[in-house]
This record gives sequence, structure tokens and C-alpha cells, in this order.
Amino acid sequence: MRYICEIQKITEADVLVIGGGPAGFGAAVAAARNGAKTVLIERNSVLGGMATAGLVGPFMTCYDDDCTEQIVKGIFDELCVRTEAKGGAIHPSKIRGMTSYSSYYLRSHEHVTPYQSEILAIVMDEMAKEAGVEVLFHTQLADVITENGRITHAVVLMKEGLEAIRAKCYIDCSGDADAAVKAGVPVRLGEKGSGAMQPASLFFEVDHIDRNAYIAGLEERKKALDDHMGNCYSWMIEEARKNGDWSIDKNEIGMYEQNIPGRWKVNTTRMPHVNATDTRQISAAMVEGRKQVQEVLAFIRKYLPGGKDAQLLQVASVLGVRETRHIKGKYELTAEDILEKKHFEDAICTFAYALDIHHSEGGGVTFTTVNGYYTIPYRCMLPENCKNLLVAGRCISGTSEAAGSYRVMPACMAMGQAAGTAASLAVKEGIAPEKVDVQKLRRILTEQGAVIKE
Ligand SMILES: Cc1cc2nc3c(=O)[nH]c(=O)nc-3n(C[C@H](O)[C@H](O)[C@H](O)COP(=O)(O)OP(=O)(O)OC[C@H]3O[C@@H](n4cnc5c(N)ncnc54)[C@H](O)[C@@H]3O)c2cc1C
Repeated sequence: MRYICEIQKITEADVLVIGGGPAGFGAAVAAARNGAKTVLIERNSVLGGMATAGLVGPFMTCYDDDCTEQIVKGIFDELCVRTEAKGGAIHPSKIRGMTSYSSYYLRSHEHVTPYQSEILAIVMDEMAKEAGVEVLFHTQLADVITENGRITHAVVLMKEGLEAIRAKCYIDCSGDADAAVKAGVPVRLGEKGSGAMQPASLFFEVDHIDRNAYIAGLEERKKALDDHMGNCYSWMIEEARKNGDWSIDKNEIGMYEQNIPGRWKVNTTRMPHVNATDTRQISAAMVEGRKQVQEVLAFIRKYLPGGKDAQLLQVASVLGVRETRHIKGKYELTAEDILEKKHFEDAICTFAYALDIHHSEGGGVTFTTVNGYYTIPYRCMLPENCKNLLVAGRCISGTSEAAGSYRVMPACMAMGQAAGTAASLAVKEGIAPEKVDVQKLRRILTEQGAVIKE
């Protein structure tokens, strides 16, 4: 079938950011602050992506693995400080592992950032507005038009119908590499060879838990637990399974307390084999996720100390997607690079969260901690086959294993800040992102608060 239509309205911009999750927020704020006329399109009605619409949280660690230094700062830290000032977060410097805020995990769960998604969204609005970003909600990338290996226009679907945005530089922060795919960039779904992807989950929030009773139950067991897996009440899941009260393919309950005492984010539902680039599969997974929420809630009420009066506050309106596409870029980051702390001349951010791989089959997780910290090279954000596109966030060029670490939100925001800054430089100098002087980019990033360790 062929459908031809005349596009009436074309918006002009220096930089178009596609997707307003952690990566897109960082990219748009950085591009605008560095002088680029920046438009951000977001298909939902809130900035933050998984952090807000997906109710995911807390922000995973932004410290090195030895817990000696905060290694993600810049726009990420500003967001934490400002959200805390509004009473919507606790700064990561004040939070330790093996506590209610880290779901009683230790390794890689030191210095997480508990936050309330609603207040985070408000602060993101404010920061984007102050930077001068034009944010268009309810605007979805439908297609791109390309010419000579460059994107000339993004075709977007709005309430009014189809419109076009013509930018000099585009940053794909859709999580799924939607713009890259349309521009002809080679991508890989999931793991090399098998295509296996980490399972999806649907987050929800509860309150009315007797915090003291809940915590007392865990404090008692804490000493006996190994040094990574707090496994928040996992032993009760075994009991519930025996009693026919637990059918979910997961053996632990992830409950992360927020800055409001007694209010928790719950990361426990599990939907394997979901290809989240397929609308029908997402739709089925949402229904299954909401069904599992009821089972987890019943478990909390029946088995958890202090849980009998638990109330369901809200269920995420979008599916929690850990993995879909990875672009083919100028460099592919591997697990070995991360574990061996490979030195990159073009490093643009530093990170240290573990390689956290939720198995595509069965309920298991492989969790390999990072020694100290690692860096991400600029080339991972430069796709093959498209000269005026950058990609930031969970879909950069890396192996599935490596993505097990950099997919978490502080790293995505740091990559976004680097991509936005690079795009503004490319526009200013009238060059392609791949021609940007990386040492100059690194200088600007560090001057603007980012941490890039050698
Ligand atoms: C179950 C689960 C638990 C997790 N737990 C944690 C955790 O505890 N801590 C942590 O730090 N990280 C966690 N993560 C990882 C983290 O949330 C994501 O990997 C991270 O948010 C990715 O950031 P992003 O900006 O790349 O993508 P996203 O957060 O997915 O944002 C992408 C944005 O782009 C928009 N978009 C997509 N396509 C289009 C389009 N075509 N047009 C317009 N807009 C579009 C989306 O609506 C979304 O707002 C978890 C993830 C999952 C799924």
C-alpha cells in the first residue's frame, strides 16, 4: 500500500533530540546550554523516560566501585541536587548499600539516589525550560528523510497529524535506536547470534507498609547475607512458591524505598521474550505485567513483615524495557573493555555499575562487579552510515553484556550530556559529529561539571 501526503509545517532547529529519557534530557539540556537551538520530541507527556513514566528507580550508583568518589556529576548531579531541594530525592552521597533505599543489596548499590518520579519530572521540566529547549510532548518519530548519508528531516506524528523537523544534527535517545534504524544504520537486536534480550518488567509503587517492622525483619538477617545479594525477603518467595502463592519467574523481590518514608518502588514482575520494538508484544506484556502486579501485592500483604496493609499507589504506564537494539557504531564497547578498564583517548564519561544481566531464560541474574570504574568512548555514540546523527543511552554501540552496565540511568544521562555538547560543537563549527575535536569536547564537558577519569 502507498500513502502520499503533503507535510504543511516544518520546524527548524540546530539540534533535534529524539526521546526525553535520561539520555535525551541530558542531551537536550547540554545542547541548548551550549548555544544550539534545540527541540526535543517525546512520545509520552513527561520527561524522564523510565525514571518517570516507567516508575523505575532509584538512580543506580554514580560512585566508583570502591565507593570513594562520585564519578557521574554534571547535569546528573544538578538534577539530584535540585530534586532533593524540592523534597523529591535524597542525594546519593547520603545513601549507603544494604539499606531500604538499595533493596538490601550491597555491591553496585552504594550511593543510589532515591527519588519521587513526579518531582523528578517537574525538575526536568524546569531545567529543560531554563536551558531554552523546546519540548514537544505527544510527538513521536515516524520516519526520517535522508540524502547522501545525512538526515535532512525527521517526520513526526503529532495530534495535528504529520509534521517535519529540519535540524542540522540529530541525537537518537529513543532507547530503541528508532531514528538510527530509519536512517539505515545497522543495528542488532539483543545478544550477538542468539538475539536474546533481557526480560522486561513493569514497575509499581506501594505505600502503607509498616516501615519499622519491614526493616527489622531484614536487619536481623542482614549479617548472614553474602556481600552482594541482600535478596530482600527472597526466602519468603520460596515459601510462597511452595504454597502456590508465587508463579513469577523471579526469586527475589526488589523493593526500593523512596525519599518519602514507607513509600516503595517495586521491581519484581518479569516478562521474558518480549521484543519491545513490536507494538503487539509490548501490549501483551503490559497486560501480563499488570496481572503479575496483583500477585506481588498479594505476596507483600501475606508474607512480608509490616506488609499486611500495603496499598497499591500506581503502576507504570509504560513497560520497563531493559534491552532492544544496539547500533553498529565506530566502536563497540565490550565487557572485557569494562572489566579491564581499557583506556580510551576519546572517553566522554566514567561509570562503575556492575554488568547486571537478567537472564533471558529463567529468573536468574549474573552480576559481575567492575573493578574501580571504566570509561565510555565517544565513538560508541557515532553510528555507521549516517553523518549527522549521534546516539546516546542504552542503544549505543556495545555488546549485550556491556550494556548490562551502561544501560542504567546515571550513565545514560552522562552520555546524553556528551552527545548534546558534541552536537552543539558540530553545529557551531559546521562539521559532522565525527569530525568534532574530541579533546575540546572533553575539556568543555569537564568545565561543565562532568567527570572523565583517565
Ligand atoms: C525493569 C528495569 C529496572 C531498571 N532499574 C534501574 C535502576 O534501578 N536504576 C537505574 O539507574 N536504571 C535502571 N534501569 C535502566 C534504565 O531505566 C534504562 O536503561 C534507562 O532509562 C535508559 O535510558 P534512555 O534514555 O536510553 O532510554 P529511556 O529511559 O527508555 O527513554 C527513552 C525515551 O524516548 C521516548 N521514545 C522512544 N521512542 C520514541 C519515538 N519514536 N519518538 C519519540 N519518543 C520516543 C520514550 O518515550 C522515552 O521517554 C532499569 C530498567 C528496567 C527496564
